[in-house]
Amino acid sequence: MHELKIAEELIGIIKQVAEEENLKKVTKVNIQFGKMIMIVPDVFHFVFDGAVKGTIAKNARLHLEILPVKFVCKKCREETEIDDLLFVCPLCGSNDLELIQGRETVIESIEGEK
Ligand SMILES: [Zn+2]
Repeated sequence: MHELKIAEELIGIIKQVAEEENLKKVTKVNIQFGKMIMIVPDVFHFVFDGAVKGTIAKNARLHLEILPVKFVCKKCREETEIDDLLFVCPLCGSNDLELIQGRETVIESIEGEK
């Protein structure tokens, strides 16, 4: 279950940001995951809620967004969103693709009260 490890890392960052911004509590956290990170949202919500207990973010609402996998074809420069993780350019059939989205773990925003 790699969700727990990721949740703990992100909570570490959230705590740091909350401290820097002098927040009394964190009310909402927006997180984006690339699809290739293979996060199961229900599992992530569950482990996040467990891991924030006793922290500044304990009552924060968690909003997750899963970003689709995107490639640009190095041969024809076509940009492709891939759903089934079949890494072939639909336009020219080349498999020489460059990943441009799909591996990110991003805290998009943190909201809180001072
Ligand atoms: Zn192509």
